[in-house]
Amino acid sequence: MSDSLGQPAIGMVVVQPTAFCNINCSYCYLPDRTSKHVMALSTVKRLFEEVFASGWTCPGMTVLWHAGEPLVAPISFYEQAFAIIEEMRPRSVMLKHSVQTNATLINKDWCKLFLAWDVGMGVSIDGPRELHDRHRKTRSGKGTFDATMAGIRCLQENGVSFHALSVLTREHLDNPDELLDFYIGEGIDHVCFNVEESEGTYTSELFRSDELRERYTTFLRRFWHRARASGKIRFVREIDRALPRVFRPDGTPYFNNEVEPLAMLNVDSHGNVSCFSPELLGMKDARYGDFLLGNITRDSLADIYRNCLASPLYRDIQVGVRACQESCEYFSVCSGGSPVNKLFENGSVTGTTTSFCTLIRKAPIDVILEAYHHLERSWTSETANPLAPSPAAAGAAVPPPRTP
Ligand code: SF4
Repeated sequence: MSDSLGQPAIGMVVVQPTAFCNINCSYCYLPDRTSKHVMALSTVKRLFEEVFASGWTCPGMTVLWHAGEPLVAPISFYEQAFAIIEEMRPRSVMLKHSVQTNATLINKDWCKLFLAWDVGMGVSIDGPRELHDRHRKTRSGKGTFDATMAGIRCLQENGVSFHALSVLTREHLDNPDELLDFYIGEGIDHVCFNVEESEGTYTSELFRSDELRERYTTFLRRFWHRARASGKIRFVREIDRALPRVFRPDGTPYFNNEVEPLAMLNVDSHGNVSCFSPELLGMKDARYGDFLLGNITRDSLADIYRNCLASPLYRDIQVGVRACQESCEYFSVCSGGSPVNKLFENGSVTGTTTSFCTLIRKAPIDVILEAYHHLERSWTSETANPLAPSPAAAGAAVPPPRTP
């Protein structure tokens, strides 16, 4: 997002401490996941010196340690990196570290670090053994379910809260009950879904399946309603993050950090910087080259910002956002979607609909509005519902397109 003066607002810094991953999931698109290079602490220092000195940080900022497997870097790396960042952090900036991990390397010492720094934890687990092991395998082809569950148990025994992140494949869509029963049985109460996507050289089987939107909507509806009824699942990201986008005060814009310069700053282990999506790091394209905007070890953030504004990629992303605005009734709750998915599904960021946005942006809104209208019908005209939005707000659930 940009502020009213047209300056960027950095809400998230995605850091790849290493591209290496200790496992080898069948749907992984990361091109460099065998490289064992680890980010130098001097790069961490330089990166956050630039970020904090820019004055472009949001008051609440997330640092996401991500992809390949971030816990391949040693505990001592994070102890030092977190301390370096904390020492430089302006007191006006609330900063939250988050880690997305396959959990296979977690032990008590890791848990101490997570507790000491209040790290937000996301664990990649695709459901019960049969579903998980189908795609999440070691390099020798064995399933990783037992190792991931051992990590989850360690987090639970040591009082570290976490959310589960499950990649949904074709098989998952037919099994919402099995998935829900698994989470409840394992004491997992925060759940996020990703869909198996076509990215880089990986082509999603899911995206090729028939009646995808209807199947996913049916899955999400069933999962959400049963999860709420159980009282044991407290957070379903696809719904709970979409609710405030749908029911929000009139005139409050929805900012999409995947289309705004520097809103999401992505940095690889060598200091290379991209914007818009961490998936672009390591990718190449005939039109956009390597997607890199600079290297934080030698370029200032101001230079990187200028490079971003002048890049053909940003120009084309804006064309795609305008095309979405002119054609899509979901624009007010999406603001142009995910350019990386447009690129890898449609071959261009200037277009509009993708399978990804159909599932991730449109289907949850459909499920929410369906539930809202069902609730609305159940109210009698004599019984005022104190939680009901004003007719104007209700009408604005999917309001007309706005200026981005
Ligand atoms: S839902 Fe898809 S088509 Fe609609 S605004 Fe978002 S990205 Fe564009």
